[in-house]
Amino acid sequence: PADASAATKRVLLAAPRGYCAGVDRAVVTVEKALELYGPPVYVRKEIVHNKHVVRTLERRGAIFVEETDEVPEGARVIFSAHGVSPAVHQEAARLSLRTIDATCPLVTKVHREAVRFAGDDYDILLVGHEGHEEVEGTAGEAPEHITVVESPDHVDAVEVRDPDKVVWLSQTTLSVDETMETVRRLREKFPNLQDPPSDDICYATQNRQVAVKQMATDCDLMIVVGSQNSSNSKRLVEVALEYGSRDGHLVDYADEIDEAWLEGVRTVGVTSGASVPEVLVRDVLDWLADRGFEDVQAVTAAEESVLFALPTDIRRDLKAAG
Ligand code: SF4
Repeated sequence: PADASAATKRVLLAAPRGYCAGVDRAVVTVEKALELYGPPVYVRKEIVHNKHVVRTLERRGAIFVEETDEVPEGARVIFSAHGVSPAVHQEAARLSLRTIDATCPLVTKVHREAVRFAGDDYDILLVGHEGHEEVEGTAGEAPEHITVVESPDHVDAVEVRDPDKVVWLSQTTLSVDETMETVRRLREKFPNLQDPPSDDICYATQNRQVAVKQMATDCDLMIVVGSQNSSNSKRLVEVALEYGSRDGHLVDYADEIDEAWLEGVRTVGVTSGASVPEVLVRDVLDWLADRGFEDVQAVTAAEESVLFALPTDIRRDLKAAG
């Protein structure tokens, strides 16, 4: 061939990648609400942490607000996939808002665990990122019982009332390895620390990390499609670098890729966070193909078949609408 180097250039494409069941459900909830009730439909916070998704829904008539009190009295508001605290539900009721809750069922599961352990008067150590919406929502279930632990380095400062009555829970979108390290240190400090009844880091977060781990050593560059405020997407870049990819970047769109990143690169890994539509990954693959990376090989770590039913109100109104 004229360009001998082209033959050695390749892309490893991670599977699973992109939309998880909770994101799919949340996005379809907004789409169906727009169809059923017509715009505007208010959404508290970004429905999922992806710029493209938010912009697309905005064009169709969704209005994104930061707080419930920005929604006109009596209007309809959708709560995002990340979940909300009981205080937000109360505020919505006070304003007579019609709420549709698009909280991912796997986030709701963690809320229930928090409520149960708080009810049994445990101290709950919630591993997660302070300020992240999901953590605010979960911690809001039992503020007086929950302490947020951000990383292994934060363990030293953690204090509890009774070291024999402590449980850890976590945000759903963390790095599995770092969380295990945080828990290992917590357990050193509190040997009777209880584990959550089941994994809080969700299947989608775990599977996307496993796929990246499988291909990272073979990659000179890992491109993760996802937004800066997407926790699970950011973790994928970190995991890639930790597991041997020489370089790694998070991009929202193909046009954010810097040509300079390709210097001396033969294998590019591509994946995407759980809130990322596949069309954005296709754009990245096209961009790479234009630069000689036409050979795309799939690296499949797991098959996913999880599906969640839409929120009850939407299902009922869809049925009524025939
Ligand atoms: Fe639910 Fe996990 Fe998706 Fe978050 S990343 S919406 S917890 S399935």
